Amino acid sequence: MGRIVLDKVNKTFGEVEVIPPLDLEIEDGEFCVFVGPSGCGKSTLLRLIAGLEDVSSGRIEIDGEDVTEVPPAKRGLAMVFQSYALYPHMTVRRNIAFPLRMAGLDREEIERRVAHAAEVLNLTAYLDRRPGQLSGGQRQRVAIGRAIVREPRAFLFDEPLSNLDAALRVGMRLEISELHNRLKTTMIYVTHDQVEAMTMADKIVVLNAGRIEQVGSPLELYRAPRNLFVAGFIGSPK
Ligand code: ADP
Ligand code: MG
Repeated sequence: MGRIVLDKVNKTFGEVEVIPPLDLEIEDGEFCVFVGPSGCGKSTLLRLIAGLEDVSSGRIEIDGEDVTEVPPAKRGLAMVFQSYALYPHMTVRRNIAFPLRMAGLDREEIERRVAHAAEVLNLTAYLDRRPGQLSGGQRQRVAIGRAIVREPRAFLFDEPLSNLDAALRVGMRLEISELHNRLKTTMIYVTHDQVEAMTMADKIVVLNAGRIEQVGSPLELYRAPRNLFVAGFIGSPK
């Protein structure tokens, strides 16, 4: 569960083609990083997969099912937003439970899933606190908890660490990698930070002006960058 296939996915805003027709396969359980400079279309591509934007043409498949016309809530994906998207007046417990309450799950199921997410994220002791009483890293974990409780087929992260300081970012990077090892769920992670890409990814997709320059493992990209753009971006010695 969690294999995502893009087939000639294309997006134009008005006259501007932000994503020229693009093919991509993301395997079940893979940690896939979209990397590229600001404005290259990373967020747009993620939002197309999430269903938050409609494709202009092309198809998106998840686990063999055509989801191109399926609304975001029914795609079985969970988007992780930056921690500032938390509700300050709600406890951690209620923040994490929020998507499940919206989906109308019963109380016991909500409690079970929140307890599991809190355990996985080491947040059990903080469930009755409010976001303002937590550290930046703990707040980011609550934002991730909100995605975990949905038991998605894949997690979609859009630069989740960009508002954290450098030291915290390194710690959270390790935590997200560890979470991936534990859950073994597909993750798509968007960043403009090549160090994040190189340290976290199974597969890196290098984007430039909406086009894929290269797809490969960190080692493949480092050893054999296809062109100067990739070499420059990944920092390999071509
Ligand atoms: P990234 O996440 O890589 O920084 P984005 O996907 O946010 O890039 O943006 C890619 C390009 O698409 C940018 O030129 C941006 O201005 C444009 N763009 C993004 N969203 C919209 C929109 N809703 N309407 C018009 N242009 C947009
Ligand atoms: Mg972006």
